[in-house]
Amino acid sequence: MDLSDAPHEHAFRVQVRDWIAAHAPRPAERRDPARLRRWAQDLREAGFVGASWPKEYGGGSLTSEQQAILNEELARADAPPIPGGMGLLWVGPAIIRYGTPEQKARYVPAILRGEHTWCTGYSEPNAGSDLASLRTSAVRDGDVYVVNGQKIWTTVAHLSNYCFLLARTSDGPAKQAGLTVLLVDMTLPGIEVRPLRQITGDCEFNEVFFSDVRVPVDARLGDEGQGWTIVRSALVDERTGMAASIRVDKDLDGLIALARRNGKSADPVTRQKIAELAIGCHVLRWSSARMLSDLLHGRLNPGIASSNKYFTSNLLQALSEAVLDVMGMDALLYEQPDASPDFGSASPGYRFLYNRCLTIAGGTSEVQRNIMAQRVLGLPR
Ligand SMILES: Cc1cc2nc3c(=O)[nH]c(=O)nc-3n(C[C@H](O)[C@H](O)[C@H](O)COP(=O)(O)OP(=O)(O)OC[C@H]3O[C@@H](n4cnc5c(N)ncnc54)[C@H](O)[C@@H]3O)c2cc1C
Repeated sequence: MDLSDAPHEHAFRVQVRDWIAAHAPRPAERRDPARLRRWAQDLREAGFVGASWPKEYGGGSLTSEQQAILNEELARADAPPIPGGMGLLWVGPAIIRYGTPEQKARYVPAILRGEHTWCTGYSEPNAGSDLASLRTSAVRDGDVYVVNGQKIWTTVAHLSNYCFLLARTSDGPAKQAGLTVLLVDMTLPGIEVRPLRQITGDCEFNEVFFSDVRVPVDARLGDEGQGWTIVRSALVDERTGMAASIRVDKDLDGLIALARRNGKSADPVTRQKIAELAIGCHVLRWSSARMLSDLLHGRLNPGIASSNKYFTSNLLQALSEAVLDVMGMDALLYEQPDASPDFGSASPGYRFLYNRCLTIAGGTSEVQRNIMAQRVLGLPR
């Protein structure tokens, strides 16, 4: 298999690289909200937001290879991410796949224009890995569903206009069959959002309470009872996105530069560790190429999405631990984001703490191992 760029891909790569060099904010500008808004607008005008979505929904109609090249070049330049978050990564694709023409016209362009921020309401205090046990109910009353219950760990709910909510519309022996997705307007009466503080000190996620929230029936995505199918494909998009968007090569380069500068690169134990991590980064590169090949052939492959998510999150944690080892006491300068020039805008201490969440978010490592064992290797339960 030849994984190098074909001539037309190379030409696109050069074009994208030049465009990023001309438009991306410089490191010193990356905390300036006005500059980041201009960057987001430039990306939109270039067709790089929703780049591989169909033109009819306002996307850029790039091929998946071109989207991958764009992602790689953005990562290489350490450019701020494409704006759009969950709306872009899995809510928009789910609406394009399962929505009515009215829902596509209403929600998709607003995601691309950055007008709507979405959060995802799956997890509950007693339903995380075993998501099908969730209890938040949506009871039909004429032309609305009345929603009651609690969600937890809802990332950016405090900033969101809409929630991609998984709720129970019926009880029965097959728990999955009673689940339905609702596209909930977060300004509806009866919704309360309470932020939760994380180990980094940030408040990125929340508890969300629903008390007699009246959600119009036309905000239901797909059929009643189709929620499990929709969420399974959205989770593949989420895990694919998590694996693809993480910039391991950049972190490896930073680690090597740091070890060279402070003399640790002469230490055999450190060298061995860096070699192991470098092998991991290479394995991930080829495994990502396989994921891309599935995308190109229109295959929804939960096995590769799970294994890449599992592998990437572990690798990133190992990289951030190695960085702290190589930095030694300097790593305690947690409050100084520019403490190390090798790691972009977040300090290594912050990254170490933040990366703890990666083996939980989007489904824990144990759950990914179960998926690989059962669905890829065919092992008995
Ligand atoms: C940063 C972050 C952001 C998140 N954002 C969102 C969000 O936006 N929306 C949302 O809905 N959720 C979100 N989550 C929640 C996340 O999806 C859940 O935390 C995750 O699915 C695990 O569920 P739980 O926390 O209930 O743990 P549990 O399911 O209770 O698991 C506890 C432990 O038991 C293990 N375990 C459970 N079942 C099995 C099994 N069958 N076999 C082996 N081990 C098992 C787990 O691996 C884990 O170690 C987020 C989580 C994090 C950390």
